[in-house]
Amino acid sequence: MNVIHQEHAVIDIKTFMLVLAIGNMAFAVLIAGYARSGPVNPAMQMWQWAKLVQGFAHLLGWLRPDWPTPWLSIAANSTLIVGVMFEAAAYCTFFGFARWQRIMYPAGALALLAYNAAHFYDASAPTRAVVMSVIIAGFSGAMAVALLRRRNGNSTLQRIIGFNNLIFFCAMGLRAYTGVAHGVLTVFSTGAVQTFTYLTGYILMIVNGFGFLLLCKEKDDRKMELLATIDSLTGLANRRAFFALTASARMLASRQRHPVSLMMLDLDHFKSINDRYGHAVGDQALCAFAQAALGALREPDILGRLGGEEFAVALPGTDLAGAVQAAERVRVAVKAALVPGCDSEHALTVSIGVLLIDSDEDINAALARADRALYAAKSTGRDRVIVGDPVRMRA
Ligand code: GH3
Ligand code: MG
Ligand code: MG
Repeated sequence: MNVIHQEHAVIDIKTFMLVLAIGNMAFAVLIAGYARSGPVNPAMQMWQWAKLVQGFAHLLGWLRPDWPTPWLSIAANSTLIVGVMFEAAAYCTFFGFARWQRIMYPAGALALLAYNAAHFYDASAPTRAVVMSVIIAGFSGAMAVALLRRRNGNSTLQRIIGFNNLIFFCAMGLRAYTGVAHGVLTVFSTGAVQTFTYLTGYILMIVNGFGFLLLCKEKDDRKMELLATIDSLTGLANRRAFFALTASARMLASRQRHPVSLMMLDLDHFKSINDRYGHAVGDQALCAFAQAALGALREPDILGRLGGEEFAVALPGTDLAGAVQAAERVRVAVKAALVPGCDSEHALTVSIGVLLIDSDEDINAALARADRALYAAKSTGRDRVIVGDPVRMRA
């Protein structure tokens, strides 16, 4: 066996193998624990297997000096290739890189073939170490490219993990180069390049380990955040999101000295739809309203469900005349909307109060003002648009 005496080595590679084995297995347990608290996630499951297999590979590697049979090194290195391939595939699944995902398994099979061919054709230990370095560098490089590619919404965390893979790719590349140039490379040989490779490998295990856990958490948090802003029935912004979106739209509009208009909308005789056709059809009517209104509004307009069958629209960059036209478009579109389960002669109608928000006006005050106009629309016959009174001048 090519165990070189390590009295002068900076790190003891055999002990390091055990550290990598335990570390990878600990991450497998951690991710399994995290996965138990949420819905089944294929990327997490794959990653968990990747860590377990890598841990096992390092455990076999740790046994190698004490058990000098070629089968152990074949088993250790083949297992490591499978583990690294699973890790790369887990990232592809996590980020939805379908094209990369498709080539990952064939690439893994090819790598296994190449390494085992080197063994069976009796390549020297340094040559096998070079082949292994090239294979691991290949997977790290692929992960680095996949994670660092410019795309919308690359998080800092993603970039950190990608950068770490890049460093490990360089370390493995350097290891392969020294193996080719000096021909003394084996898994347990010492030297600056070996130390650098194992240390970067250790850092990569930690960064990839915690990084993947945090990426999963980041994704779950984003999903929760989105759910917390959306009305689950209609898919529109909920009350809280409507207020938040309107506040930022008003801020931007005031900087650009653009007007912002507001509509309050309430479906007419909605109780009678529920009473006549049932609550489920009432829900369908709310969805039909949302679709019709969205179709009649412009892209920057913010339509939100304030509660029940009451809705509001903020129209950034739209003056009162424009807002009245938009409200009329909504009214006509809603009247023409078909509600599944409702008789066709039963038209859905909406009453609308519309106004221009004063630049200093509190949003709640503007909504109250629009609500008064809405009430006027209701009391004068419904299915109509009424313009709100102007803001009262302060004394
Ligand atoms: P008006 O023309 O005066 O507005 O009459 P209305 O019948 O619409 O009266 P109101 O606005 O007071 O009634 C609201 C009804 O909307 C009462 C409630 O049962 C129903 N509603 C509120 N939320 C939902 C919902 O999510 N689904 C269904 N199906 N009905 C809802
Ligand atoms: Mg109402
Ligand atoms: Mg109503």
